[in-house]
Amino acid sequence: MTTIHNLGFPRIGARRELKFALESYWKGAFSRDELTALGAQLRKQHWQNQAGLDLVPVGDFSFYDQVLDMSFLLGNLPERVQGFHGDALDNYFRVARGRSAKGTEEHSACCGGVAAGEMTKWFDTNYHYIVPEFTAPTQFKLDASRLLAQLAEAKAQGVRPKPVIVGPVTYLAIGKAKDDSNKLALLERLLPVYAELLEILAKQGVEWVQIDEPILVTELDADWQHAFNTAYHQLKAARVKILLATYFGQLQENAYLAANLPVAGLHVDVINDRDGVQPLINLLPAHKVLSLGVINGRNIWKTDLTAVLDWVEPLAQRLEARLWIAPSCSLLHVPVDLNSEQKLDVEVKSWLAFALQKLDELKLLGRALNEGRAAVEAELAANKAALDARRASPRVHNPAVQAAVARISSDLGRRESAYAKRAPKQSALLNLPVYPTTTIGSFPQTAEIRHARSEFKAGRLDHPGYQAAMRAEIERSVREQEKLGLDVLVHGEAERNDMVEYFGEQLEGYAFSQFGWVQSYGSRCVKPPILFGDISRPKAMTLEWITYAQSLTDKPMKGMLTGPVTILNWSFVRDDQPRSVSCKQLALAIRDEVLDLEKAGVRIIQIDEAALREGMPLLKAHWKEYLDWAVECFRITANGVRDETQIHTHMCYSEFNDIIASISEMDADVITIETSRSDMELLDAFKNFQYPNEIGPGVYDIHSPNIPTQEHIVQLMKKAAERIPTDRLWVNPDCGLKTRQWPEVIAALANMVSAAKALRASA
Ligand code: GLN
Ligand code: ZN
Repeated sequence: MTTIHNLGFPRIGARRELKFALESYWKGAFSRDELTALGAQLRKQHWQNQAGLDLVPVGDFSFYDQVLDMSFLLGNLPERVQGFHGDALDNYFRVARGRSAKGTEEHSACCGGVAAGEMTKWFDTNYHYIVPEFTAPTQFKLDASRLLAQLAEAKAQGVRPKPVIVGPVTYLAIGKAKDDSNKLALLERLLPVYAELLEILAKQGVEWVQIDEPILVTELDADWQHAFNTAYHQLKAARVKILLATYFGQLQENAYLAANLPVAGLHVDVINDRDGVQPLINLLPAHKVLSLGVINGRNIWKTDLTAVLDWVEPLAQRLEARLWIAPSCSLLHVPVDLNSEQKLDVEVKSWLAFALQKLDELKLLGRALNEGRAAVEAELAANKAALDARRASPRVHNPAVQAAVARISSDLGRRESAYAKRAPKQSALLNLPVYPTTTIGSFPQTAEIRHARSEFKAGRLDHPGYQAAMRAEIERSVREQEKLGLDVLVHGEAERNDMVEYFGEQLEGYAFSQFGWVQSYGSRCVKPPILFGDISRPKAMTLEWITYAQSLTDKPMKGMLTGPVTILNWSFVRDDQPRSVSCKQLALAIRDEVLDLEKAGVRIIQIDEAALREGMPLLKAHWKEYLDWAVECFRITANGVRDETQIHTHMCYSEFNDIIASISEMDADVITIETSRSDMELLDAFKNFQYPNEIGPGVYDIHSPNIPTQEHIVQLMKKAAERIPTDRLWVNPDCGLKTRQWPEVIAALANMVSAAKALRASA
């Protein structure tokens, strides 16, 4: 018999119930009891949704983040929140979100302002966890109350529970030593707490515990490999069976290690590492369970069930009851229920599976393996028909687009001349002062803009009315920028709900869900557009707005586009062709937009690549391949223009050392980056690389309502000038201003412009 199980279920709710409950609770509109009752209700719902599986995850539900839950379970609270007098859940949210000092709440006098825990991406997903904090003296102390309460609930509901926790080595690896001490030295103190937990779970009658160790799919040095041996040899005395779960990648050099750890079972991600399975089975001791993640937990496509069965049936014969099957990873990374979608294109919808549909697929595979394919013949035939239809659909395949991709040559991504030759032509045409000032693109998204957009979408505002509303907003932005005395203006992005969705909606080959939300962090969700077919651009996407904005002013107006790599990285993408091919299609489509803007007289065009860095593969060994095609796609998009046209790009991160060579190859005339919080230190990467083109290092943090002073900006720019020649420096904020209020924006930019004037005067 093959066992079927799940690694984790989305917790946000099919209608984002958890999001709304959390936000009400934080505002004080929802009581603690109401929030906890909603949590219990969601868990019950989700366990019911998973009925029919042999083992169901417990403990995967979280009010904010499973890694933060782990920190509380291990008693590893940042020092700044220890000794809090208030409620434990309240303290949990203090770490998750921070708390300002001026609160009027209870305990604000004794335990007032506290900084939020740092947040970072969970492996290569778009989910963000709260980074565990360590120092050399960190101690751990078990608090299993939350997990045990969920376990008791599950048992009361007749669920066959499999508690899920983050493993000790991954927990240390993804945390941060605040004092730069050696995190691994803490392992010794950490393991007894895990052992104690496993013993308590055994006493509760738990048979299997899933311990997530996704760090096994990254390159581990000898010390970290050794930590795995230490950890699991120490935990092997436990009276529960451990299923060690790995996902998101390939075990590669860690395969031998993973296969031989003294645990009862191992889960691997077959979507990412099918080729690794046979060799792994050869390494696996004969008593061990092997759980194969055969359903993609990261995308929204139907599984090819027949193909999975063709592959897995011989393994089932060989492994017999030792074979388990599951999704590749927790279903946290996919939306809940496709059946909620009422407006999705029916044809596209027939190709998709969200979390609930993926569980149905899993059950079908289980039946096929345990009872024979004949037992599910009709379902397999329906699945095959849907997949065949997708493969053959003209909606997916556009021969003209494929031919255009095939014709791509290296010339397509090359500028007419090198930067040194085109820069003087651009400055002759643009006639900008030294230290030119600009912004990153968006201006405040006011309530009126949002209202106009939603009225237009709902059909209550006609096109002329909508256009007039957007034009009014563009005009307002232009007038404000002129008054401020900025040198290069933007139209303000009023018409954009989101920098990816806006383009996706206008491209052929994209579909949009209504409820396809995926948790990004805490109560925040994203609804990635679905890239399902070959990409083409039926008509210009931004031209109307940019040319209107340019018509209002003599100052140069910067055209504003989102780059292909960012659009790709923030979408659900096709599984029937490499990411690089989809990206090239996007590149060609946006290239046409660039050329249309140029033809219409736009002299500066910015192509944002905010997500270029986050698409980096988990294995360093794969970085080069990714960066090669990502850079090529940017170049295809940008570099068809004449020497005189100035290309900008924008990236909001604070780590460039790994990618500086690639950024240089992108060959944008100007790159604007986020630097203010690093005190310009990250410009060292550019300096050391002798980055040849222009740079606009962000001079203030747009995430904060604080108004930067002129002096502070001047100081920062002087630090920048120690690293980059002044004739190649721009002055701009860190990122777009869409989340700010107009009065803040005006005050901050006024200081920025006067700082630039002061710098010019002293230059
Ligand atoms: N042009 C976009 C804006 O200003 C860039 C946003 C981003 O980099 N995330 O909002
Ligand atoms: Zn940005």
